[in-house]
Amino acid sequence: MENCIFCKIIRGEVSSKKIYEDEDIFAFHDIHPLAPVHFMLIPKLHIASLDDAEDKHRDLLGKIVLFAPRLAKEQGCTSGFRTIINTGHVGGQEVYHLHAHVIGGTKRLPVMIPNPS
Ligand code: AMP
Ligand code: ZN
Repeated sequence: MENCIFCKIIRGEVSSKKIYEDEDIFAFHDIHPLAPVHFMLIPKLHIASLDDAEDKHRDLLGKIVLFAPRLAKEQGCTSGFRTIINTGHVGGQEVYHLHAHVIGGTKRLPVMIPNPS
């Protein structure tokens, strides 16, 4: 996709702090980290959001999920991490190229969504 920021990162037109790349997927540090470890795992194929994923993407999405723990450990998440895929308006998605956030470090993260009551 011509104007997608993450496609531009994959093509090397926008710089990023890359941590992994192969023929299917790309991983790079988030520019505004929310924790000591915060990187993004994305498919090289432009899929706008999880809402746009189809059966034909099953292996690709499975690969992303299975790479999350491997890369998280390499980045220093020795006792777990959080994986988030924001989807659409309600999900707070800002970049419309499907991405899994991997967030962690060594300290326990705060609750994901504070209880409103
Ligand atoms: P989301 O709300 O799930 O769409 O999150 C988009 C994420 O992309 C945010 O956490 C941003 O900080 C991150 N982001 C946006 N532009 C860049 C960039 N050029 N390099 C690294 N991360 C980025
Ligand atoms: Zn894209």
